[in-house]
Amino acid sequence: MQSRKRLYSVIISVIVLLGFLATSLIGYFVARDSIAERLQQEMLPLTSDNIYSEIQRDLLQPVLISSLMANDTFAIDWVANGEQDPERMQRYLAQIQDKYETITAFFVSEKSRLYYHPEGVIKRVSEDEPEDEWYFRAREMKQDYEINIDHDTADRSRLSIFVNYRVENRQGEFIGLIGVGLSMESVVQLIENYQRRYGREIYFVNRQGEVMLQSSQYSHELHIQNKEGLDKLFTRILTTPSASVSFEAKNGNVIYLNSRLVPEFDWFLIVEQVNDPASEKVEAALWINILVSLAISIVVLFIAHLALRGYQGRLETMATRDKLTGAASRQVFDSLFEQALAKSRRNQQTISLALIDIDHFKQVNDTYGHQHGDEVLEAVARIIKLHIRKEDVLCRWGGEEFLVMFTDCDQAHAMQRIEAIRLAISAWTFHFDDTRLTVTVSSGLSELAEGETLATLIERADKALYLAKGDGRNCIKLAE
Ligand code: GH3
Ligand code: MG
Ligand code: MG
Repeated sequence: MQSRKRLYSVIISVIVLLGFLATSLIGYFVARDSIAERLQQEMLPLTSDNIYSEIQRDLLQPVLISSLMANDTFAIDWVANGEQDPERMQRYLAQIQDKYETITAFFVSEKSRLYYHPEGVIKRVSEDEPEDEWYFRAREMKQDYEINIDHDTADRSRLSIFVNYRVENRQGEFIGLIGVGLSMESVVQLIENYQRRYGREIYFVNRQGEVMLQSSQYSHELHIQNKEGLDKLFTRILTTPSASVSFEAKNGNVIYLNSRLVPEFDWFLIVEQVNDPASEKVEAALWINILVSLAISIVVLFIAHLALRGYQGRLETMATRDKLTGAASRQVFDSLFEQALAKSRRNQQTISLALIDIDHFKQVNDTYGHQHGDEVLEAVARIIKLHIRKEDVLCRWGGEEFLVMFTDCDQAHAMQRIEAIRLAISAWTFHFDDTRLTVTVSSGLSELAEGETLATLIERADKALYLAKGDGRNCIKLAE
């Protein structure tokens, strides 16, 4: 019974806890996935869109300036006049540079191949020179201009954004490239601003996957192929205009990456985020959930335990006690007798047993009704209880028949007690429907003999009771 109860408690606890745990975990994974999805599908692409549009805005002005320069009659006329007086071109370029705060302004003449700069003629571009390759590429282009990121011809250590604008004379013949150079500083600034604001890593890679532009805090591989976790994904990033991927770095962090091609630079803008920050909140929520669930489970299980114990106690009383008289029920008498027997053997004591039967009880019922019959039964039980000790046992043996087991009590002493009970019952007056009623009892008494069983002990008491009934009732007989 006890182990069964424990088993049920364990099963219920496990079910409740697993249920709570399952709902908490499901909630956690759903929230985490939806946040990760949002990050990948919306937030990171949005960041790269913003950066891209700011870059485009930043580039718009230099393109306009270059266009003005290319269409200015000054350059066209000056070339037409045979590039006389290079200082005039030099002053013109210096003025542009000052006015628009660009880092450089330049003109390369197709005829002379001279590279003009605010500080003078720097060089003559040559098809054999790899660093002049940009000129020969740009002069063949179909569109009016290109944006090129390159090392500055005037300062090789500096990476700049150049707008190379085609200049044509009035006959539509190509006469050179003109334009301005911008510092990459503003783009780096943009990257750093975004990094600070969103806690994301932002950098640019070229089509070969080399990191071309990064913030000053960038400390990773300079080639994305070498980035841990990206070795399998980099081809996808470098071959599609935009991609959203996530991968696990060696330290276990999940990295979400969004790439988009910036056609002006022919570079990919990469936005990376390590471990979505919202996931920490979701994780904290999971723990809170689990703790709350645990607390609720414990309280619920405790209440259930109390309720079960209460019900069990009531069930036990119902099974072991007679409802009407509160005497022990016949079903449990065997075990009560066994306990008493063991104890009396230990202490070398004896047990006496009395069967007490109400006389002519049927008549009571017939005359006064069952209800009053019950009241008589209750009163008789109450009187018996008043005359026995705590260690004695009163049992309702049958309808109107009680059994009393006297422990550590021989026949003679038991006789005295039963006699007192008999007298007390016969002295009690019931008041029913304006009539008075007294009842008597008869009793048979036996004492446990050496090695005797309960069955024969009762049988002898029963025989004695039979004798008492035969002897006119309201008396007590000793068993043989
Ligand atoms: P005797 O003196 O020979 O014992 O006669 P008696 O009428 O007491 O004996 P009998 O066995 O004929 O009748 C017992 C009656 O007790 C019959 C039954 O209806 C009644 N009885 C048994 N249990 C209950 C009970 O719980 N409540 C009431 N009111 N009556 C009960
Ligand atoms: Mg009777
Ligand atoms: Mg009877």
